[in-house]
Amino acid sequence: MKKCGAIILAAGSGKRMKTEIPKQFLELAGVPLFLHSVRAFSGVVDEIVLVTGEESVSYCRSILEKEMVGIPVTVTAGGKERYHSSMNGLKLAKDWEYVMIHDAARACISEAVIRSSLESAVRHGSGVAAVLAKDTIKAADENGCVTETLDRGRLRIIQTPQCFYTDWIVQAYAAMEAEGDDLSKVTDDAMVLETYGKKPVYLSEGSYENIKVTTPEDLLFAGAILQKRGAQQRMSL
Ligand code: C5P
Repeated sequence: MKKCGAIILAAGSGKRMKTEIPKQFLELAGVPLFLHSVRAFSGVVDEIVLVTGEESVSYCRSILEKEMVGIPVTVTAGGKERYHSSMNGLKLAKDWEYVMIHDAARACISEAVIRSSLESAVRHGSGVAAVLAKDTIKAADENGCVTETLDRGRLRIIQTPQCFYTDWIVQAYAAMEAEGDDLSKVTDDAMVLETYGKKPVYLSEGSYENIKVTTPEDLLFAGAILQKRGAQQRMSL
């Protein structure tokens, strides 16, 4: 297998969590939230780049020093928007054949979901974790009036990790920078590959447990998911 690394994004401010410390550092099952992703990826990839706020770089390094991760982990500073943080991470990923980009906020990530994303990238050049939409989804105008009901059979909820052939995503980001468009609608890396890389984005097996911890109740759900998983592991021993 060629070299594969993971960029774990933990540089958000987490305003919707309404806590003083950013959500990626809140305690979840006894450790800072971001550490769950570091642990999960360390079982699959060769190297990790953790992207965090400039002011949190030394804190993250001190946490990682106490943790026996087993693979090299570099901590670097992110940027204002999520895509700035991805771009900063990609600067350190140049010698990887495949890059996985993951939101630290998805602390319940499993090795199975990571491996499915990587396998898809090895086959097709891209593998983006996704699940079927369970709810009916409608578009609405600014007055709250429905303009369209989307065909649920074709809708997928997109998660991370998103794994890519590194050259493809690096070139797509370079093209995006060169265009100088309004980038406020860029919310994930697959969108950059679709729009600026003009490469196919393939979906891989995500999980309904792979939630993004965004609001206070998500922290409760994530705690319950990890507790259930821990109990299952103990039963199988
Ligand atoms: O804000 P959102 O929930 O979409 O963020 C998804 C992930 O991206 C989080 O793990 C967050 O820490 C990270 N992020 C980042 N840099 C930013 C904004 C978000 O690394 N500027």
